[in-house]
Order: sequence, then structure tokens, then C-alpha cells
Amino acid sequence: YRIDFIPLEKIPVWSPSGDSSCKPQYKVDEELNKKISLFSGDITKLEIDAIANAANKTLLGGGGVDGAIHRGAGPLLRKECATLNGCETGEAKITGAYGLPAKYVIHTVGPIVHGSVGEREEQALRNCYYNCLHTATKNHLRTVAFPCISTGVYGYPPDQAVKVALRTVREYLEQNHEKLDRVIFCVFLKSDKELYETMLSAYFPQG
Ligand code: ADP
Repeated sequence: YRIDFIPLEKIPVWSPSGDSSCKPQYKVDEELNKKISLFSGDITKLEIDAIANAANKTLLGGGGVDGAIHRGAGPLLRKECATLNGCETGEAKITGAYGLPAKYVIHTVGPIVHGSVGEREEQALRNCYYNCLHTATKNHLRTVAFPCISTGVYGYPPDQAVKVALRTVREYLEQNHEKLDRVIFCVFLKSDKELYETMLSAYFPQG
């Protein structure tokens, strides 16, 4: 047991702090809300079924969250990833998590944004979240955490990416609520924490 592993029991279900200036777009669904967490910190510490990795097409490791995941998992992760023949943008591939407390890593490749976000990039980011969730449920995994895919070096504006992330997860949970216990949005930057706190009030409103 390592002291810095964070088990699901230590990750609170999301609840809004303060009032939301954001008009809810979605209907109140307390059962869905119980399946959502906002966790601020390092995704590699989470002792849950699966963590998503914002990887690159080679799946052989990189910077940012990808680098942190490979460092934490150790060289066996790279070895398994090397057998997967890479990953296309928007797709997802699952591996073991080796030295990490999570059981699995689901690697996905976000779109690279040059200039402004187009239909293609938005659909690709949507596919990342959808395919990670689908890969998790196909493998009977019930707790999944996401980093803010594509919003680092891949350049997707965080205020646009959060809407894609929350809408895709909301719609997936509405259709597959019995298959998942918790979806954790793992934010690493203070600015993303604030963005998610605001936007969660719109996508997962409380009664
Ligand atoms: P991408 O190439 O998809 O843009 P990055 O890793 O550059 O991926 O950034 C994606 C997000 O992951 C950013 O918001 C970044 O702050 C965040 N991040 C970096 N390290 C970690 C970590 N250890 N845990 C969770 N999120 C992280």
C-alpha cells in the first residue's frame, strides 16, 4: 500500500460550490449526478478501474499527462503499447497499468488544433471520450477518470473542450447508466478546475 494512492472512497461525488451563473441546459438527474466527480490533481494517483491517457498516435509515450502515466507505470507499459500498432485520432486502446494504482490505462489520441476548432476536431474530441467510455464498459470497468484531453500541447481551447467532454459523458451515462459507477474529470490546472466547476453546473444541474 502506497500512501499517495487515492481510492474511489476518497474522491467525493461532485456537488456545486456557490451559485451557478450558468443556465442549466440539461434536466436535473440526481442518479447521473452521483456518478460524477471533479478531482483536482495527478491522475496517476487514482486507484480506480481505468484512467484515460491523452496519448499521441505512436502510443510510445510523450510529455504532459502521457509522460506522467508512463513514468508512473514503468517500462512495461511502453512495451505493451509497442505491440498495439499505434492509435488513430479519436480512437482508444486499453492496456494494463503496471506500476500505477489504476487497473487499466485507456489510451486515446486527441485532435491537434491549429487556429480555430472545426467540425472535424470537435467530432474527434467527442470520439475520444466516447471511445474511452465504450472501451471501459466493454471491459466491465466501472470507474473511469479523464484528463483534459487535447487542451495541453495539442492546443484545443479548454473552454470549448470542456463542453465536448461534459456533453459526451452526459449523453453516454444517460444511455448506459447501469454500466458505470463513476466518471471522474481530473483537472490539473487551477483554470481548468474553475472552468469545470462552472460548466458542471450546466451539464449536471442539481435540483
Ligand atoms: P494533449 O497532448 O492531449 O494536449 P497534454 O498532456 O499536453 O495532452 O495536456 C492535457 C491535459 O493534461 C492538460 O490540461 C494538462 O494540464 C494535464 N495534465 C498534465 N499532467 C497531468 C497529470 N499528471 N494528471 C492529470 N492531468 C495532467
